[in-house]
Amino acid sequence: MVTSLHEDNESVTVEWIENGDTKGKEIDLESVFALNPDVAPDEEIPQSPEAPVPPSNVAKTSKVPKTRRTTAIPKAENTPRENRAASVGTTRARPSQHSQAAEPPPPTIVPQPAVNQSLIQQQNARRKSNCVKEVEKLQEKREKRRLQQQELREKRAQEVDVNLPNYEIMCMIRDFRASLDYRPLTTNDLIEEHRICVCVRARPLNKKELSTKDLDVITIPSKDVVMVHEPKQKVDLTRYLENQTFRFDYAFDENSTNEMVYRFTAQPLVETIFERGMATCFAYGQTGSGKTHTMGGDFSGKNQDCSKGIYALSARDVFLMLKKPNYKKLDLQVFATFFEIYSGKVFDLLNRKAKLRVLEDGKQQVQVVGLQEREVKCTEDVLKLIEVGNSCRTSGQTSANAHSSRSHAVFQIILRRRGKMHGKFSLIDLAGNERGADTSSADRQTRLEGAEINKSLLALKECIRALGRNKPHTPFRASKLTQVLRDSFIGENSRTCMIATISPGMASCENTLNTLRYANRVKELTVDPAAAMMESHQGGHITQLEVLEAQWGVGSSPQRDDLKLLCEQNEEEVSPQLFTFHEAVSQLVEMEEQVLEDHRAVFQESIRCLEDEKVLLEMTEEVDYDVESYATQLEQILDQKIDILTELRDKVKSFRCALQEEEQASKQITPKRPRAL
Ligand code: ADP
Ligand code: MG
Repeated sequence: MVTSLHEDNESVTVEWIENGDTKGKEIDLESVFALNPDVAPDEEIPQSPEAPVPPSNVAKTSKVPKTRRTTAIPKAENTPRENRAASVGTTRARPSQHSQAAEPPPPTIVPQPAVNQSLIQQQNARRKSNCVKEVEKLQEKREKRRLQQQELREKRAQEVDVNLPNYEIMCMIRDFRASLDYRPLTTNDLIEEHRICVCVRARPLNKKELSTKDLDVITIPSKDVVMVHEPKQKVDLTRYLENQTFRFDYAFDENSTNEMVYRFTAQPLVETIFERGMATCFAYGQTGSGKTHTMGGDFSGKNQDCSKGIYALSARDVFLMLKKPNYKKLDLQVFATFFEIYSGKVFDLLNRKAKLRVLEDGKQQVQVVGLQEREVKCTEDVLKLIEVGNSCRTSGQTSANAHSSRSHAVFQIILRRRGKMHGKFSLIDLAGNERGADTSSADRQTRLEGAEINKSLLALKECIRALGRNKPHTPFRASKLTQVLRDSFIGENSRTCMIATISPGMASCENTLNTLRYANRVKELTVDPAAAMMESHQGGHITQLEVLEAQWGVGSSPQRDDLKLLCEQNEEEVSPQLFTFHEAVSQLVEMEEQVLEDHRAVFQESIRCLEDEKVLLEMTEEVDYDVESYATQLEQILDQKIDILTELRDKVKSFRCALQEEEQASKQITPKRPRAL
């Protein structure tokens, strides 16, 4: 494009776009006319009788007419071809190749123009040649620089690849993938009915993984298969890939959206709660694998768009379903709760993290005492609650993940009909499963957290398995999480879905495999006859546990029995030492609750005693007070005080013993034990 005309030196400034950048230069008019005869003024074109080509035709054919060559040729010697090509922009179709630039000028006989014209031309040529030379030099320099940079880049790219510690592995994975026929899940795929649905979702590599050049070792070739390419090393140090394949109900690759995941996982469960059922949906995986992204919504920057999470998508559909004639007539009300389970304790996220107690009534109904249930009328109401809960969840925390990796978040949508429970949908963003490995940490708080997470995830797995097998006993009492969700694991009309989220990086390989193995065990529903035999011949395990029991002392509780069952069912994962540790932790948590409760009671009682004492002292100020009565009453009060204080002191003493025992037990866990979970 010509952007300005300089009449003084008969040139123009031209601009063009090259690789997205605007470039420009000055070029003499003659060159422009030589190359674009159709724009040249008539009087300057010496019409040759042999070539009467009309300008319009020239433009169409994009060829320089023979006659114009006569003036264009001398310039061709000075001006590199691509320079000229660039100068005429996109109107010219002539390719600009170096080989052409090297062509000698065609040996045409140049017809001599009139003398005065030839003089002007000579002057022009001189002026031009200076300008062109400058341009040429610049062009050359630029070209040289470009080539150098290109070489450097290529060299560097090679160095990076070859020196990359996992270069070989990367090539192996690439070759493996090239041989696959990809058929990912699409919205056209059938949504199957599952009582228990287990699926996996892999997120894309994140910025941190990309910056550390971590490799993506996950391949999802079809709608239900996940492959992990685990790098291994032979004795002779040659590296190879071990490709492990897992099959689930659905596998979502890095391109899947939350909507897509929702469509196949939680959405089919919405109807369940309208049909008087119980539904649960869990996100399970290591910290940073995408649990919160899936359940709570997309974090873009620091703010979470909770409208895109499974919590909100489920709520949206609950309100849609409510409008259907069949359900409309039921006159249902919708409520929501949002709480967190941390280290075996329940905190209400809709009530400034109030600590709540979990009690079981005579009919084995589990109650979370005082849990706030908020009525919600529309999706916006739900979004507001989620925001409140989320900010409460992470308040005072330096990082959302640091806290949420240690606690389970439970969001529930409850349908009630005239106050009575009709159905309940629990959506759970579980604690990071890698936390189970913290049980041998030096810090008690971390140990207790780890133990509780480990135990609750094992218990969760067993509860879902029991649901799938219609087993009469569900070991729900082994953890607070399963205790709180107990009603969701029983009954004909209960359905559940687990979304195992995985990080794709090679650095996460071990955690990823643990997650996939766990998810696999949840769904392993076919009863293997050999395993069934084992189940009915558990004498060996029982004696082992009986030994432990003898060491630990007697005293059976429903919690303890469930924990025992849990450990029996997961014998490879739970060593006897770990069982002992879990026992100690359970006891500790129970005792802590008791001590706190008793302390509160003693405190109240002490206030009452003080009031009595005050009255008594006031009595002594009377002139003729009854000394006998005073002494008797004071003794009573003091006896009572001593009794309650002694009792509390004894409790605290044994609590302190339990703390020591837990510490001992944690040291007994051999570091070589199979990784928890
Ligand atoms: P978790 O809750 O399991 O600890 P998060 O959900 O917080 O993990 O995810 C960790 C990071 O990865 C977040 O920055 C999140 O935005 C990002 N992320 C997770 N899943 C995806 C996904 N499917 N697509 C894009 N980014 C994701
Ligand atoms: Mg999270």
